[in-house]
Amino acid sequence: MEPIQRIHHISATVADANENLQFYRDVLKLRLVKKTVNFEDNGTYHLYFANKDADDGTIMTFFPLSSDLYGRVGAGQVRRIAFAIPRGTLPYWKNQLNTNSVSSIEDNTFGAPALFLNDPHDLSIALVESETEMKTQNILGFFGVELLSEKPDETLKQLLNEMGLQLLKVEDDYYHLEMVGTEKHKVLVNRKITKLGRLGIGTVHHIAWSVPDKSALEQFKKHFEQAAQVTAIRDRKYFNSVYFKDPGKMIYELATVGPGFTVDEPLDQLGTTLMLPEQYEDQRDEIEARLPKLK
Ligand code: ZN
Repeated sequence: MEPIQRIHHISATVADANENLQFYRDVLKLRLVKKTVNFEDNGTYHLYFANKDADDGTIMTFFPLSSDLYGRVGAGQVRRIAFAIPRGTLPYWKNQLNTNSVSSIEDNTFGAPALFLNDPHDLSIALVESETEMKTQNILGFFGVELLSEKPDETLKQLLNEMGLQLLKVEDDYYHLEMVGTEKHKVLVNRKITKLGRLGIGTVHHIAWSVPDKSALEQFKKHFEQAAQVTAIRDRKYFNSVYFKDPGKMIYELATVGPGFTVDEPLDQLGTTLMLPEQYEDQRDEIEARLPKLK
């Protein structure tokens, strides 16, 4: 099997949908590229954000819950989501966060200058300076992630031997890995063994790794089925995917590149209309009435 090239998307659970939208759209200046519902629960939004061009490897998604089901960060979760910012833009972002009353600290854990901060629902975020020079300050996509595994050594082994990531260095606190795609996403495996986390508001639900197409997805499914329970292939409209748990209890998804977000609306109008999968289309009025209005 080919090495996995890049992160496909990361999905997290948050609280108020408008607080989520205002932070990622207005403070981090990502683009809302899809407004849909959780395919398993049509009373909850599923909001997709990406860089301005909605490129592969830049998709961050959220399930905003109207309940108070708060999670607890711990083993079996993505601990921190790192976005890449263009070279030299750290001062700009520091100012942008200050202006919006978001506190941040400088940190070098990812091997480059970064700002560490929390989003309005306590998700841990990093803005990491990349080597890429740009005319704008906009977020480029993911820089990488920090994983909190219940079994860091086994998580490491799977990422290296079965998914094709490369080991860059070993530190007391972290294994530093890199993905082989052009973005060179960095994956930090925290070596500290922590208590198992609990999913809910303020935690990442899963990380999806990108696979080229459905035939690659089937191959990976067959492979991982030897050691784990893997779901059937699910049609997520914008991609096909399977889910399984890594040896450290993290929920992994493998997701195909296509058909992509322009399958139901044109690129310049992404995110402007509530898009529903076919099975919910006949309930559109009730679904729209139940969901909070987005500002
Ligand atoms: Zn997903």
